[in-house]
Amino acid sequence: MKLHNFNSGPSILPQPVLEEAARAIINFNDTGLSILEIGHRTDWFQEVLNEAVTSVKQLMQLDDAYEVLFLHGGATTQFMQVPMNLLDDGETAAYCDNGIWGNKAAKEAALFGNVQVVADSSDKKHTYIQKEFNIPGNAKYLHLTSNNTVEGTQWHSYPETSVPLVADMSSDIFSRPADFKKFALIYAGAQKNMGAAGVNLVVIRKDVLGKVLRKIPTIMNYQKHIDAGSLMNTPPVFAVYVSMLTLRWIIAQGGLAEMAERNEAKSSLFYHTLDSLPLFTGTVAKEDRSQMNAVFFLKNPALEVPFLDLCKKEGMIGVKGYRTVGGVRVSMYNALPLASVQAFCDLMKQFSSKNS
Ligand SMILES: *Cc1c(COP(=O)(O)O)cnc(C)c1O
Repeated sequence: MKLHNFNSGPSILPQPVLEEAARAIINFNDTGLSILEIGHRTDWFQEVLNEAVTSVKQLMQLDDAYEVLFLHGGATTQFMQVPMNLLDDGETAAYCDNGIWGNKAAKEAALFGNVQVVADSSDKKHTYIQKEFNIPGNAKYLHLTSNNTVEGTQWHSYPETSVPLVADMSSDIFSRPADFKKFALIYAGAQKNMGAAGVNLVVIRKDVLGKVLRKIPTIMNYQKHIDAGSLMNTPPVFAVYVSMLTLRWIIAQGGLAEMAERNEAKSSLFYHTLDSLPLFTGTVAKEDRSQMNAVFFLKNPALEVPFLDLCKKEGMIGVKGYRTVGGVRVSMYNALPLASVQAFCDLMKQFSSKNS
């Protein structure tokens, strides 16, 4: 049976990336060695890292004011590393609480300074993005989550502010073009739209660094990672390699404009189908719907288990909603083909006509 991979993360990767990575495990670039066996300070790995960094800068159209790092850990590590580097004791940072990840980020930041939650959508279970809010003038930065993986909402345009913008882009990184120069810092765990688990992409505008008085442990210090070119200690070599291959694939496909076109086609097919079938209901405000993660429910909750069972039987992987949200979630990352969305929509229609 053909499987359709709607996993939310780790998630689907392009088939050519998987094939190349599989070859490299046995024989990396005809070196006769596995990618798992080469030193991180070899020219071989330096080339991988250079291509990854150059590809990020090219796709995001960033100049030399920015540095690109590949660091250990998931996005959760960045929840603490960002405030540790940017927010001193007694200073204030503004946070948008639009979902569980942004909420966690705000809680971690509170360990380092004052956190002011300027936007909070918990009154409606995070089914919308609050876009009007006031940012305190003394805020060191404003933190937002560009795509709420769990709740299925996404910022479709970013706030205009004079405060440095920091974004967790873990689940929609490289899914569409944007003015990335609006941001002082962008981070993303790789395992949703960029590669294998174990590595974080961190993009930093250098002028925001060096302003806190606190002592920062070396491994947590962005400036020290910049000085060491992401090679302070052994990086997650294989995870960086898979990210590099995915970035190469995105560029070869036509870059972010092409990704956006495909993601637009997939998500509009999906949401159009959802809206046409009265058996199902989407609870997210239409203007804030995510192109990456669509969350929806069966109007009759008793039909949820039979629907999920049918999905399983038909090879639709990873569509059960997040444990705190319930319902159904289909993740439509860059590598997911339109045909998988079509197959899922056909299944929804089939289930609908049998049950109405
Ligand atoms: C998955 C996710 C995280 C957590 O990532 P880890 O790599 O597991 O730490 C954080 N933020 C967002 C938006 C996510 O989707």
